Amino acid sequence: MLRKLVEAILENLSSKEVFLFRVICGSCGSEYGNRPIRFSKAEAPPTTHSKQIIYDAIYEQEFYAAKQVAIRNAAEQMNYCPICKRLVCNQCFLICDDLDMCTQCATELEQQGNPVLPGIVEVAM
Ligand SMILES: [Zn+2]
Ligand SMILES: [Zn+2]
Repeated sequence: MLRKLVEAILENLSSKEVFLFRVICGSCGSEYGNRPIRFSKAEAPPTTHSKQIIYDAIYEQEFYAAKQVAIRNAAEQMNYCPICKRLVCNQCFLICDDLDMCTQCATELEQQGNPVLPGIVEVAM
C-alpha cells in the first residue's frame, strides 16, 4: 500500500541522459528517491533509425527499473500519517501508544512518541 502512495506522489525529474525520481517528506521537506542513474546509451547517440528504435526501448526499460528503485528506497523511508494523510519520513513519524502519527499531528493532538528514526541522518538516497 505504501508503495502505491509513494508512486502516486513520485516526481519524475528524469532527462534524456539521467533517470531521477524523488518523493518529498510532507513535513520536513527532505527528499528521498534514487541516486541519479545515467542512461547507458547517453554517450552514444543512435546513428540509424533502427538503433533509435532499439535505444528508445532500452531507455524505457532503464526508466522503469530506476523508477522501481526510487519507489523501493522512498517506501523504506516514508510513513503514512493517518491523521493528516500525508507521507512523512522516518524522522517525522512517531511511534505512539495508541496510533502512530507524524510529529506535527502528535504535537497538535498532544501525543507522545518516539521517532522511527531519531536524529538527523544523511539524506538517504
Ligand atoms: Zn521528514
Ligand atoms: Zn500527520
